[in-house]
Order: sequence, then C-alpha cells, then structure tokens
Amino acid sequence: MNSNIKLLVALIIAVYVNAEYISYKDYKVFKLVPKTEEDVDIIKNIHQENKHIFWSDMIKVGSDVRIMVKPDEGNDFENYAESVGLNAKLIIQNVQSLIDAQLKRPIERDSQQYNWDHYQTLEEIYDWLDKIAEQHPDVVTIIDIGRSVEGREIKGVKIDFKKKANPVIGFFEGGLHAREWISPVTLTWIINEFLNSKDRKVRELAENVVWHIVPVTNPDGYKYSFTDNRMWRKNRNTANFTSCAQWNLDDDMSNGFDLNRNFGYLWMATGASQNPCTQNFAGPVAFSEPESIAIANYILGLQREGNLVYYMGFHSYSQMILIPYSHVKGADVLEVANYGDLFEIAIKGGEKLKERHNTIYSVGTSADILYEVAGSGFDWVKGSAKVPLVFLFELRDVGEYGFLLPPEQIIPNNEEVMDALVEMDRVSRQIGYY
Ligand SMILES: [Zn+2]
Repeated sequence: MNSNIKLLVALIIAVYVNAEYISYKDYKVFKLVPKTEEDVDIIKNIHQENKHIFWSDMIKVGSDVRIMVKPDEGNDFENYAESVGLNAKLIIQNVQSLIDAQLKRPIERDSQQYNWDHYQTLEEIYDWLDKIAEQHPDVVTIIDIGRSVEGREIKGVKIDFKKKANPVIGFFEGGLHAREWISPVTLTWIINEFLNSKDRKVRELAENVVWHIVPVTNPDGYKYSFTDNRMWRKNRNTANFTSCAQWNLDDDMSNGFDLNRNFGYLWMATGASQNPCTQNFAGPVAFSEPESIAIANYILGLQREGNLVYYMGFHSYSQMILIPYSHVKGADVLEVANYGDLFEIAIKGGEKLKERHNTIYSVGTSADILYEVAGSGFDWVKGSAKVPLVFLFELRDVGEYGFLLPPEQIIPNNEEVMDALVEMDRVSRQIGYY
C-alpha cells in the first residue's frame, strides 16, 4: 500500500472506532435505600466521587437510589457498600440486555404505518411530522424553533383547528434529556390523538388551544443515544472537552451540557455542576446553549402571538407531576403565587391518570419530592416568562427499568398521560385560566 492509502485506511478505522456503539454488557444497577443521615452522607460521597453513573439524583432518607456500576467494579462496589453498612441490592444484572429489549421492533411492519410499539428514532419522528403536516394542511404547520449545536433542526408542529385571533396557546416539549426515550414517544402520541381521536374530551382539548409541540428539543443528544451511547443525557457541545480520567470516566462524558440546568432562572443556584464530566454540567453561563436559547425565544414569541397558558416539559423517570420552583420546599412553595391552583390541577390530573392502569404519580416541587434543582427550563418559563400553568412530567417508571422502559409500556404510558392532560385542562378551565 502506498502511504496515502495507508493513511486513508487508518483514518477510516479511526472514524469507525470513534463512532463505535458503547456496549453496556454486564453493567449492573444497584439499589440503595439510605436509612439514616449517615447513610445519606456516604451515598452523597459516592456521588461526589463521580465514578459511577447515578440513575437517580435524589439522595435522602428513604429514597430509592439507583447506581450503575461497570462490570469489573460490581464486586468492589458491593463489598464497599457492605463495609459501610449499606445494603446494595443488585436489581439489573446486565444493562445491555434491557437496551437490546428496548430496541426491539415488530418484524412484520407496513413501512407506511406509524406505530407506538417501539421507540422512534429522530429521523422517524421528523419524517412523520412532515407527513402529518402534509395530511392535515389546514390544521398542522411545521415549526422550526432553532438549530442544535451540531446544526440539526429543532422541529415540531403547531396544531391550530380554529385559526382565531389572540388564541389560547399551549407548548409541550420533550426529549430535553436524550436518554429519556419515553418522552418524545409520548408527545408524538399526543399529536396523533389531537389530530385523530374521536373522544369528545380529547377533541375539546385539541381544538380549544393552539398547540405547539416539540417532541425532541435535544436532537443531537437523542440521536447520539441511539447511535453511540444509550445512557447519554446532555446535548453534544464539545466546547469544554477535557479529561475525565480522574473519575475513571470516558473523556466523552465532558462533551455535553445539561440543557435542563442551562436556563437563566437562578442558574447554578443549586443541584447543578461546573464540572464538564458530570451529568448535570450547567455550562459556563446561563443560556450558553442554542437548544435552551431556542426554547426560551420561542416561548417569548408565543406570548406575543396570544395567551400562552400552558407549558409542560416531559421527562423520565419517577412518575411525578412537578410544579415550579424546583429549589423551594415546605412553606416556601408559595413563592409561586398560584401554587395552590397548580397543585390542585396536578393532583386531579394524577388521580385521573391512576384510573386507567393504576399507575401512581406524586405531585409537588422537585425540592419537595425529588431533589433541589435550579436553572431548569420550566422554572425559567414560570419565573422569568411568567406563564401561568407550568408543569413537568416525570413519566414511567419508578426505577425498575428506569430509562430502559420496555416498549410494551409505551402505549399504556401514553394513554394514562392523555387522561391526565384532559383532566388538568378541565380543572384549569373550571378555575378560570381561560
Ligand atoms: Zn430529564
């Protein structure tokens, strides 16, 4: 081989290796439940060490903490836990087998048909949005709220049945965190129901409000979670690339910012990090990322178009309807003037949700029922943009599968969420929000 060809071959191999799909074969997930404040401190120290991937960030007495451990570190982890008096229960033996199960698709498939029996790739979602816009030209318009770090469209739909002046507007966003796959597939379901459902209550909800729905607000990360790293959470900004070796983590971990810590409301106040090797790296300044800027600008634009009443973000997992602000708890929740209304709307939504498949959601601020956070998207929408009705869904489940929810649960999840939304809208109208 001449040297040019050799170089070319080497380059091709390098690119191939670089783009290799990360396997989580034999990665294990342990469950720890701290019983005392001492236990909490020990687990917080493990979190600080940043050696293992925490699936849950909530570390308090009685909470259910799930930690993913590399194959060769499982025994050490168990031994360490035992030595400090913690019971680490192995709940997932091989993370990759759950990932494989999640990627399963029915074999017989009419390619024209769009189904909710599998997790949809970014390309499938975007192609489908184009298709439904063609099929419903009088109702659906494609919206493009901006570009991602890697230059992808952040695409969604506007659904407007009545074309009224000064309409009531709602905005739903999903996929801000890449690995939370149940989120985009919930939103595509809602779009489809809004267009095709014959249920009278769904029809009212679809047609009373002009809906703007963006299923994947972090398209680079979402795509990356299919092609390279199933557990990817952040966007794909490489500006702070650095070595993560001191935490025994792959350097690629530093190639991303946590979009839900990057918004400009109490940015970095709590529950966020300045270390690029962490999952909740908030970025160098608030609104450093094009994806968070795109959402914020779009929200401000909607407020000029009409009466923006609803903003809902869709995440997973934990089965919760969260209310802003994410840093307040106890009596301080009343910092949000209409907290009582938000609570009532969410509680009623959760009750209705439970009726369908007996799934239990809890309601409250993140600080009260999950963990303290600042710089999140929905807190900014409430605190800075002052949208009246702002919620964040943490979808299924409570940790049995976590982000790796089996595809069989997609449709039951979607059905119960739709029920909750219909009820939340009914209560909101009853209170008089529109
Ligand atoms: Zn999330």
